[in-house]
Order: sequence, then structure tokens, then C-alpha cells
Amino acid sequence: MGGFSRAGRALLGFCAVAGPALVAPLAALYTGRPSAFFLAAGIGLALAILACDAWIVARRRWITGVLALATQIAFLIFLGTYAASPFPAPSPLPEALPAASPPAGMAIYVLPTGVNHRTSAFAYRGGSPWEQWDSVLNAVLVQHPQGDILIDTGLGRTIGTQLRQMPFLFRLATDLEQSRPAADQLDAAGYDRQRLRYILLTHGHWDHVSGVPHFPGVPVLVTAAERRFIDDDGFATATARGIDRSVFQDYAFDGGPYLGFDRSRDLYGDGSIVIVPAPGHTPGSVVIFVSLPAGARYAFVGDLVWELLVLVEREPRPWLASRMIGEAPVAVEQSVLRLRVIATPFPIIAIVPAHDGRRWQSCRHSSARSFVDAGGRHTVPFSSAR
Ligand SMILES: [Zn+2]
Ligand SMILES: [Zn+2]
Repeated sequence: MGGFSRAGRALLGFCAVAGPALVAPLAALYTGRPSAFFLAAGIGLALAILACDAWIVARRRWITGVLALATQIAFLIFLGTYAASPFPAPSPLPEALPAASPPAGMAIYVLPTGVNHRTSAFAYRGGSPWEQWDSVLNAVLVQHPQGDILIDTGLGRTIGTQLRQMPFLFRLATDLEQSRPAADQLDAAGYDRQRLRYILLTHGHWDHVSGVPHFPGVPVLVTAAERRFIDDDGFATATARGIDRSVFQDYAFDGGPYLGFDRSRDLYGDGSIVIVPAPGHTPGSVVIFVSLPAGARYAFVGDLVWELLVLVEREPRPWLASRMIGEAPVAVEQSVLRLRVIATPFPIIAIVPAHDGRRWQSCRHSSARSFVDAGGRHTVPFSSAR
């Protein structure tokens, strides 16, 4: 038999059978970090596999062919986990908008601390791998006469060191563009840190707690469930485990149902900042409802969904991303649908996923007050509504 040597034939068979096991991680890496290298390597390998398939058929190597067919079907099933697969439609919400008496002097600001360049295919099922999705990393300052709160902190100064605690493949699929940490933006704007009463976490993942150490002595509010989750050994909470534990402060959901969520916590007793448990992305994830004096309302939903579009279309995260994070799929569905029923009857509530850059942009009020950093650049004002 002419053509390939024994070793060459073995290599062709190996490429057809084992190749999909390499294309799959390349495809996954590309969704997380749309680099030309991952794309070219994936396409090149896929073409090589097809060429090997053709050789197998031409040479009638049926045993190798069956094995190759099996791994290639497994690969297609894996790709299928990125296809659209919406949650069922939720039942309507028979509830009125809860009362709130936000005091004069309240205002909110966004402090952008960086961007993670990914694709929509990474963010939600049905998302395009060819559409770049910029996952923004923000902190939100809520000014309140009883004490300001910072919702999440975004990236801190030591994010480089923190990232080194992450698994190699996670770092490979992460393309961070860091801007100024929230603490530095506030300092540059002359913000009086004595006003800051709490840091309130939507959840304990690295990209939400990275800047916590820049606010020494400020209590960090987390649910007991999230604290237990942080104490577990997951890589996504390694940054949180590096924080001085004495700053963490549990709180209980001692209030009744709120907008379809079972329990709630009214932080200052005036309905202006209400926290509800929304487990799934992490066990202790919360949604934070903020109402401002002029009537504007926001729901900061953390990572329950990564894009508002996901909520509208009820699309879950792709299987791999959800698995990597260690989500509880049933709880995610329940929390997403609870949030989904609010969106239609209460358009006054602006639902803001933590990483949805387009949503943050659409919530901006160009006339807003803003913090100005030492370089004279405006940090992005979120709202001047009071
Ligand atoms: Zn998260
Ligand atoms: Zn996040």
C-alpha cells in the first residue's frame, strides 16, 4: 500500500479520533477570549480532521472511522450546549410596586474599573461567537444620608497578583483591560471616605471583591450562604479568601416578600435600598434594589445574568461557563424567572446586570454630576436622579 508510512497512518487516525478533544477547548477558549490565534488554530485543526476523515473513508478503515465518528458527534453535542435553549415563560407577577421613601441627598454613581473582552457566545446560549462582548467591571457608589454604600468594588490595584491564583486555562481565556480602581477614583475626586458605611457585595466572585482591600475598616456585607461559599475552595473566590475576614459582616433577610422574592432586607428602613436573595450563580447571590427620590429605580442583579438580553430572552449561560463557575442550574432558573416577571410590568425598574456594558451606557444621564479624577477625566456618571 503506497502513501503513508505506518506511523503516518497512525497519526492520521489519531488526528480524526482525538482531534475533536482539542478543537473543543480551543472553541471554548475563543468564546472567552476572542483571539485570532485560538480561531486560526481551531479552524486549522478542524480542516485537518476533515482531511483525515476523507482519508479514513478512502482507505475504508472502518474501526478508526467509527471511533472518529463517536468523538466528532461528542464534539457536536458540546457545540450544541452553546445553542439557544430558553427557560420556560414565567407566570405573571400579581404584586404592586413596593413603596419606598428615599431621602433627599441620595444619588448613585458608577465607577468603571475595567473591561474583560469576551464574546456573546460565552455570555449566554444562542450568543454569537463572532460578536465581541465587553464584560464591564464596575463599582457603584450609592450616596445615602445614613451612610454611603459601595455595591461591589470591581478590579483593585493587585488584580495581576490575584489573577495568578486562578487556573491556567481560566487566565488563558481572560483578557482584562484594567482602568483606575474605584478607591483611587474616589480619592482623586476628593470623596470623604468617612461617608462610606458599607461595601455591599452582590456575590463573592473575584471580579466583584478585587478592590475590597483598598477600603480598610469598611464592613463588607455578605449573606451567610455566600460566606460559606467563599470559605469553600473554588478558584473564583480565592480573591475573597485573601481578604481580612474581620471586615465581613453577615446580614439576615428579616423582611417579607419583595417583588416575588421570598424574603428581603431593607437596609435603612426607608425602602431605598432593599436586598433580596437570588441564589444560583453563587449560593448567596443577591439582587439589590435602589430607589432614588425622583422616582428612578434600579435593580443591581450582579451576575445572575451577564446581559439584559439574556433576561428578556430567558437564555441560560452555556453549559461550560455555568459548570466552571459551579452554578446551581435549577436555582439560577428560578432566580432568573423571578427577575424576568418584574421586567414587563415595572419598566420603571432599570435592571442592571453587573457586566452588561450596553445596559450601563443606556442608564447614563449625561447631565449627571460626576466624579472627576486627578487627570481631569470624568468617571462615568450613572444618574443624577435624586
Ligand atoms: Zn460571578
Ligand atoms: Zn462577575
